[in-house]
Amino acid sequence: MDAHDIFRKLSYGAKFNTKITASDKVSSNIDVKHVHNVNNRIDSVKKNVSVKPEPYDEFILLDSIKAESDCTKVKIINKKKDDRNNHQRDQEQESINRIRKINRISVVGKKVPNPVETFDQLIDQYNVMPQIVDNLKLCGYTAPTPIQMQAIPVMLKGRQILGCAPTGSGKTATFLVPIINNLAEPSKNGFRSLIVCPTRELARQIFRECNQLTEGTGLITHLISKVSQKHNAQSVNFTKKFDILITTPNRLIYLLKQDKPINLKSVEWLIVDESDKLFEVGVRGFREQLADIYRACDSANLKRAMFSATHTYHVAKWCKKNLKGLIFVSVGHRNTTTDLVEQKLLFVGNEHGKLIAFRNLIHEGLHPPVLVFVQSKERAKSLFSELIYDGVNVDIIHAGRTQLQRDNVVKAFRKGKIWVLICTELMGRGIDFKGINLVINYDFPQSAISYIHRVGRAGRAGRPGKAITFFTETDKPALRSIATVMKESGCDVPEYMIGMKKTNKKLKRKLENSVPKRSTISTTPKYLIQKKKKLKQMTANHNR
Ligand code: ADP
Ligand code: ADP
Ligand code: MG
Repeated sequence: MDAHDIFRKLSYGAKFNTKITASDKVSSNIDVKHVHNVNNRIDSVKKNVSVKPEPYDEFILLDSIKAESDCTKVKIINKKKDDRNNHQRDQEQESINRIRKINRISVVGKKVPNPVETFDQLIDQYNVMPQIVDNLKLCGYTAPTPIQMQAIPVMLKGRQILGCAPTGSGKTATFLVPIINNLAEPSKNGFRSLIVCPTRELARQIFRECNQLTEGTGLITHLISKVSQKHNAQSVNFTKKFDILITTPNRLIYLLKQDKPINLKSVEWLIVDESDKLFEVGVRGFREQLADIYRACDSANLKRAMFSATHTYHVAKWCKKNLKGLIFVSVGHRNTTTDLVEQKLLFVGNEHGKLIAFRNLIHEGLHPPVLVFVQSKERAKSLFSELIYDGVNVDIIHAGRTQLQRDNVVKAFRKGKIWVLICTELMGRGIDFKGINLVINYDFPQSAISYIHRVGRAGRAGRPGKAITFFTETDKPALRSIATVMKESGCDVPEYMIGMKKTNKKLKRKLENSVPKRSTISTTPKYLIQKKKKLKQMTANHNR
């Protein structure tokens, strides 16, 4: 006869109070001594059966034994459940860590939302509108890129973010998906999302992608284009119908300074693309404008997101201090070029050597589209005149051209009508020309950051590309840092470059903010240029 039989025999016809107390339920640790005691008491009941104990005593005794053994059973079950839960949690965590590791995602922050591996998981796990996922697929995006896997969930949970991922790795869709999902449907309350980026071309590009991703949602996006006379039309009632605003900082500041300033009070998400560029101070940066924009977005619900391919200490420090609940997501090694671009440094002796080297490349056969970076508008124009003379299908883009010219050049280059595009730093950031085969740094970039962005115009969305960087004696001060970036990105560079003396910080900063003097690109003799100028002036005077 076991304890159960004894129990049945003795308890026949009796009612027991077998309720378990709350404290028993809560407790999940089994007290070994306690189990031992219960077993002893069951033994003693077994022994006592033959002596026929008083039914009443047994009644009490068995009641407590039953309750205690039940409670132990519950505790064991709870423990098993907890073990299973812990095991499941460990397994989940392991799989999350694995996803992050494979995709080289690193995260810093509290309670970081889990990454997803497919876009469909966004619907199941984060309640994203299926329409948005359909739109992603229509764009040809079959699977999320690493930054999309992690940063989209972070923003969907309403967390502020500093996101760093290589050039061409899909940061645009990363911030567009969560803001579109957050907006859900048109509200006619004016701008609720604001995206700021450094150049008009980039703003237009983001605008295009935004229109693709909002397709079918009814949401309307506005791109501030030519500010000029139209600013009156931009105010109050006109802006009510829009949900998303995309702009460069200066145009927005202009509209903020009008008598009837543009209203940003409903903005819930402020996205700063190319954040390290916008954080730069001085004439080349937008730090002050950004501060004005922050002040204008004064909704209590405002959340901010910063994205860039390059990580700078200033941005990180600012975000840490100012963004509550910040999550920092980065992909790959910090401040390296995309590993899809094969990179080469070419010593060309002097300025004249650059043109010879370029003509050699043409002779060997250039595979268009090719993007050529020079350090100034003037040099862009000179190189353009030289290449036109060589019969190359070439055009130029720089800040000195009109908006219409800039737009047309970009369009023609996208369509493949232009093969070689000469540009200034203006094109360095964010621009996504499909399938750039070669980036030529005709003039050496002023910093490693600039190098990373320029080279990043190739090797986008998984396609391979090449980059050739010309250098002369003049470029030695910045050579070491760029050679180091190349090496970290897996390129072969001569050891002596890495071993060169470090440029001190002061000089480095000076270099970043100014361009070196270089002799002219033009091969036309000076007297001929002057003669041409005079002739032009004379015709102009004559026509007056
Ligand atoms: P980044 O801002 O990181 O430099 P972009 O957002 O400009 O990169 O995207 C680079 C290219 O990759 C674009 O042509 C874009 O259409 C494409 N792209 C973005 N996300 C995906 C994806 N999930 N799958 C395939 N291509 C993508
Ligand atoms: P961005 O590259 O930021 O778009 P632009 O080179 O297009 O800047 O210059 C536009 C800037 O010129 C505007 O942000 C504004 O500050 C200024 N601006 C534009 N239109 C006018 C105007 N009608 N009157 C005065 N300033 C203007
Ligand atoms: Mg970008």
